[in-house]
Amino acid sequence: MLDVRGLKKVYEGSGRRVEAVRDLTFTVGAGELVCLVGPSGCGKTTLLKCMGGLLAPTAGEVLLEGRQVTGPPPGMAFVFQEYGRSLFPWMRVGENVELPLKQKGLSKARRRDLVADALRSVGLADASSAYPWQLSGGMQQRVAIARALAYEPRVLLMDEPFAAVDAQTRADLEDLVRGLWRERGITILFVTHDIDEAVYLGERVVVLSASPTVVQEQLKVDLPPDRDQLHTRVAPRFAELRTHVYEQIQAAKRGVQLGGTPLEAAPMDAPPPLKDGLR
Ligand code: ADP
Ligand code: MG
Repeated sequence: MLDVRGLKKVYEGSGRRVEAVRDLTFTVGAGELVCLVGPSGCGKTTLLKCMGGLLAPTAGEVLLEGRQVTGPPPGMAFVFQEYGRSLFPWMRVGENVELPLKQKGLSKARRRDLVADALRSVGLADASSAYPWQLSGGMQQRVAIARALAYEPRVLLMDEPFAAVDAQTRADLEDLVRGLWRERGITILFVTHDIDEAVYLGERVVVLSASPTVVQEQLKVDLPPDRDQLHTRVAPRFAELRTHVYEQIQAAKRGVQLGGTPLEAAPMDAPPPLKDGLR
């Protein structure tokens, strides 16, 4: 579905040169839920902007279903980190959700159905006539998710969408994302700096190094598809996976590659011990 090949992005201007992303190559299959985790400043937002056609890469390319992305492609929706700035304060919730649909040439009745369905999906069926500023941060982010859903995207890019909400709300929103993914079969790329969140949410985790950014490792998350905040996060396997990702990120900071990916083929009940030796 998504193909990132040799992506490089260098910001240049006013005498400064920042190599945000050095060389990224990975793919996301149709219907996958992939989490991309990396330290702050490693270029996650830059990468997503390139993937969403909002920013031109310096080198390399992004393909969506085999076609090169050169501008915002139809069929792709974005949920940004800063929900406070992503909704129009003078528009009611329902109008915010409906706005992108107006470019799709849908009938008014169809738009109304999509908006109602999307708001229902995020648990905000009754909030349509409220203004964003009348809602809590978590609710505003739900509106942003509803707006993306109403657009009926095949691919959803999410950039640290829950970084600014409280822990309880964040847990609820994580479960919402997994629920929507399972119900709707959307391809989701979820970016976070939070290792636990990446492991809890993802079916696969792509670990990025610190800047200059490369893919440090890719890891299949072999937790059961039915996850819940209470049990999944205390499962021994969850702890092993998060420890492994943590070690990878630490190793990336030191600029080394840890030996092998022993977790990938490991059976659930008897994982092999993790190697902490350097190759
Ligand atoms: P992340 O989302 O992982 O925190 P970003 O993609 O926002 O990282 O930023 C990666 C690097 O690129 C940082 O060093 C940041 O300062 C730099 N950067 C981001 N946007 C710009 C820009 N428009 N111009 C110059 N440098 C930028
Ligand atoms: Mg960012």
